[in-house]
Amino acid sequence: ASEMATMMDVSVTQIISACMSLGMMVTMNQRLDAETLSIVADEFGYKVEFITADIEESITEVEDKPEDLVDRAPIVTVMGHVDHGKTSLLDYIRKENVIAGESGGITQHIGAYGVKLDNGQKIAFLDTPGHEAFTAMRARGAQVTDIAIIVAAADDDIMPQTKEAIAHAQAAGVPIVFAINKIDKPTANPEKIKEGLAQMNLLVEDWGGKIQSHDISAKVGTGVKELLEKVLLEAELLELKANPNKPAVGTVVEAFLDKGRGYVSTVLVQAGTLRVGDYVLAGKSSGKVKAMQDERGNDVAAAGPSTPVSILGLDGAPQAGDKFNVFEDEREAKQIASKRTQLQREQDVRTTKSLTLDEIGRRIALGTFKELNIILKGDVDGSVEALTDSFQKLSTEEIQVNIIHKGVGAITESDVLLATASDAIIIGFNVRPVGNARSIADQEEVDIRTYSIIYDAINDLKDAMEGMLSPEL
Ligand code: GDP
Repeated sequence: ASEMATMMDVSVTQIISACMSLGMMVTMNQRLDAETLSIVADEFGYKVEFITADIEESITEVEDKPEDLVDRAPIVTVMGHVDHGKTSLLDYIRKENVIAGESGGITQHIGAYGVKLDNGQKIAFLDTPGHEAFTAMRARGAQVTDIAIIVAAADDDIMPQTKEAIAHAQAAGVPIVFAINKIDKPTANPEKIKEGLAQMNLLVEDWGGKIQSHDISAKVGTGVKELLEKVLLEAELLELKANPNKPAVGTVVEAFLDKGRGYVSTVLVQAGTLRVGDYVLAGKSSGKVKAMQDERGNDVAAAGPSTPVSILGLDGAPQAGDKFNVFEDEREAKQIASKRTQLQREQDVRTTKSLTLDEIGRRIALGTFKELNIILKGDVDGSVEALTDSFQKLSTEEIQVNIIHKGVGAITESDVLLATASDAIIIGFNVRPVGNARSIADQEEVDIRTYSIIYDAINDLKDAMEGMLSPEL
């Protein structure tokens, strides 16, 4: 605050009182978040320009004309409960799908792979199954997945992680195709799974609904081809298109340091075409693409939309979920990479990205808040349902309360990730965070509130929505 006062040539008291009029108590040495800075500066007739915004704005993406767009393959993530067969399904598809004219399946693990069906249509798979990876990428701002295959074993029930996977896909607005797996087992009962889904208001086609599902055996291969055809049908509805004739943009899937070859990064091209010789910026790393390989270990010279490739030549390992762009000249890419590194070093206190209940109250008071996303965990189903009902009734014309995920059980890492990616708060009723959930929540500044009295939980939320919640001590 005091720094800001000096810059604008006003007194600190003026800044503090401006903040107070926004309903915020600040101290002289407090760092203000970006939004507050802008509003306060505006009051004094200044405009705030953020260095981050500056940097990112210099990365211009070419606007596509409708006639430049061509169909692209869907990018698919496989999710579901542990041991229900995610890895088996990905392995089966990897082994069985051989691009015409190529002998042998995919041998390399590069984090993503493409397959081509008999009819020539393609699908790109992200090879790290699970909603944790999916949502971790989303938390970094990367929307890569077009369609989620959710695997549910037919010899089991709909399990907590099945529900989580559904919630994560829904929160991302990604359509789901269900793969009811293990139908080769004598104890398999696919109808029971479909019934369970129906109870969650998810009606699959056999049950008169619109959600695609197919009974499969990932082990034997039964139904996998048909499952993929349904994925393509779903993709058709999405009308996935991209312009291949421009500098490539996309997302990093994974990266590591190889002793012999240097940094190896797998990227998924989402638009444009990536070529050997291009100057690439990915997160805080940059460099000239020296070589590219597909998942079969073949050298490729160019990779178009929805194609995963591993690239050599970056000067570091970007993080999964980092965006990549291609630059005209290497200097510019290097400059931005070093600016990003510098910026991160300077930001000893990160501006708040996630949401706390206090922050919600403030934003509502400012009128900048429209939706309140909640993840609700409780000890018994009865209280979870009761709270869901009560919370939803708090919705007003201005603010919509969304329960994006609810369930019985402790607050897990996965809940925190979902909260980060969806700007949600977590409410626990008679349950606490377990494992690394608390530390990740602290790091990501996700608000976890735990209650043992229903009335208290409802009241806090109501107060926050009315913009008068007193800060938690
Ligand atoms: P993940 O944890 O979801 O990745 O599950 P895995 O793919 O590792 O599978 C867990 C176990 O179930 C393994 O022992 C698999 O062999 C087995 N499995 C997976 N799919 C099938 C299937 O279709 N039929 C049968 N009988 N077993 C399967």
